[in-house]
Amino acid sequence: MNIYDFAIIGGGVVGCAIARELARYKAEILLLERECDVCFGTSGRNSGVSHAGFYIPPNTLKAKLNVLGNRMLPTLCNELDVPFREIGKLVVAKNDDEIKYLEKLKRQGEKNGVVGLRIIDKEEIRELEPRVNGIKALYSPRSGILDPFELTIALAENAMENGADIMLNCEVRDIHVREEFFELKTERGDFRAEYLINSSGLSADEISRMVGIEKYKIYPCRGEYHVLDK
Ligand SMILES: Cc1cc2nc3c(=O)[nH]c(=O)nc-3n(C[C@H](O)[C@H](O)[C@H](O)COP(=O)(O)OP(=O)(O)OC[C@H]3O[C@@H](n4cnc5c(N)ncnc54)[C@H](O)[C@@H]3O)c2cc1C
Repeated sequence: MNIYDFAIIGGGVVGCAIARELARYKAEILLLERECDVCFGTSGRNSGVSHAGFYIPPNTLKAKLNVLGNRMLPTLCNELDVPFREIGKLVVAKNDDEIKYLEKLKRQGEKNGVVGLRIIDKEEIRELEPRVNGIKALYSPRSGILDPFELTIALAENAMENGADIMLNCEVRDIHVREEFFELKTERGDFRAEYLINSSGLSADEISRMVGIEKYKIYPCRGEYHVLDK
C-alpha cells in the first residue's frame, strides 16, 4: 500500500495551492481529486476577481487572509507565469443612500488594511470608465482579475514538477483513522498518509464526518451567470 506524509483531498485552487506549498519540502505528497481534472468544482465556476478586502467584516480571519492573499497574488502569478491584471474596481453609487454604503465599505476596508481606497466623483468615474453612470464611486486600485483555471492548473503542475502525486478520477469514499496514519479508501485503491488535509470544498463536511468530526454542515447556494454578447 502507498504511504504518504500528506494526503490532500480536493483539487480546487485551495488543494492545489497547498500541494504546491508542501512540495517545497522533503515530503511525500498525494492529492486526490474525484473529477477527471483539477478545477472542476467552485474554483472553475467563479468571477476570477482578486478582491482587495473591503467587503469583509474587520477583525475576522477571512478579512486578514483576504488582504494578505490580495497582496501575495501578483507575485504568485508572476512565479507561475499566470497572467494577472490589477485593473482596479469601481463600486458605484447612484443616489445619496448608496454613497453612505460606499463610505461604510471604505471604513471597513481601511480597518482591514486595504490601501489606496478613494471615493471619487462623477468626472473621475467617467475618466476611468466612460460608460459607467454614477454620482460617486469607491475606487479600489488593488482589485485585480485572473483566469482561475490557469492559476489552479499552474499550481497543480508546479506541485507535480516538485514531486507531488496527483490522482484524478479518485474519489475518497471512506477514511479509517488508525493510530499512526489515516487510511483512505478510494475507487482507485487504498492510500495511507500521516497527515490529512481536507480541501474538498462543498464536500468538506462529508469528509470531516468520515474522520468523526460532526460539527460542520455546509449549506450550498446556487447562482447563475448570464454571459452577454456585445
Ligand atoms: C459564483 C461564485 C463566484 C465567485 N467569485 C469569486 C471571485 O471572484 N474571487 C474569489 O476569490 N472567489 C470567488 N468565489 C469563491 C471561490 O470560487 C471559492 O472560494 C474557491 O474556488 C474554493 O476553492 P476550493 O479549492 O476550496 O473548492 P473547490 O474548487 O470546490 O475544490 C474542491 C474539490 O474537491 C473535490 N472533491 C470533493 N469531494 C471529494 C472526494 N470525496 N474525493 C476527492 N475529491 C473530492 C471536488 O471535486 C473539487 O474539485 C466565487 C464563488 C462562487 C460560487
